[in-house]
Amino acid sequence: MSATTRLLTQLQKTALDAIFPPGCISCAEPIDTPGNLCANCWPEMTYISAPFCDKCGFPFEFDAGDGFVCATCLKQPPVFARARAVFKYDDASRDMILGYKHSDQTNRAPTFANWMSRAGADLINDCDIICPVPLHHKRLIKRRFNQSALLVREIAALVDKPAIPDLLTRKRPTRSQGGLSAKARLRNVRGVFEVTAARKAQLHGARVLLIDDVLTTGATVNACSKCLLEGGAIKVDVLTLSRVVRASNTAI
Ligand SMILES: [Zn+2]
Ligand SMILES: [Zn+2]
Repeated sequence: MSATTRLLTQLQKTALDAIFPPGCISCAEPIDTPGNLCANCWPEMTYISAPFCDKCGFPFEFDAGDGFVCATCLKQPPVFARARAVFKYDDASRDMILGYKHSDQTNRAPTFANWMSRAGADLINDCDIICPVPLHHKRLIKRRFNQSALLVREIAALVDKPAIPDLLTRKRPTRSQGGLSAKARLRNVRGVFEVTAARKAQLHGARVLLIDDVLTTGATVNACSKCLLEGGAIKVDVLTLSRVVRASNTAI
């Protein structure tokens, strides 16, 4: 290999490392294709695929037919129309997501967006604009980025749909939803979101795809969806990287 070829190869590698993490995006073991999971981590993830609840995307063991809705959604229909996720939030996926969110592993965003664009292809197809669940500006300063807004940017670039990262804002800071009961989560986000005044015209009559990293009880995305629908959206779908799947599915 000549010195020039070596330099070019190194430059290419550096450029790829800047876009994608050099190792497995979960365990950091060296792998051949950057921005991927290694052969050990890939089968550990529980990918969510049909059959699932037509509304909240809760996976079913058996196919009950198109349009089938889970007991929880029947009892209390969510505000959003449909929610879909790439994989289950569990021991296998937790560290990978928390590392992205809290340890500046933002170079995982293109890979996550790639997976999300496939898992949410139907929702993406039906949407006019894509927006994230917003962070309060105080938390944004602390964390330096909104993990959901990064996903929005990457997904929008992949699928060529308009992204509006500041469509929603948080009126006041809220405590983290982590560790709160379903009821406390609802209370915590009630009346917290508002449509950014300068974006109201763009929202009017639009079908919105709302992006977040994890769907837990649905309290946050429901509160955002309510705000978007009251602000003039005609439909809100939700796409997340992962979702909590409890046997009873009583949370959403
Ligand atoms: Zn791995
Ligand atoms: Zn459901």
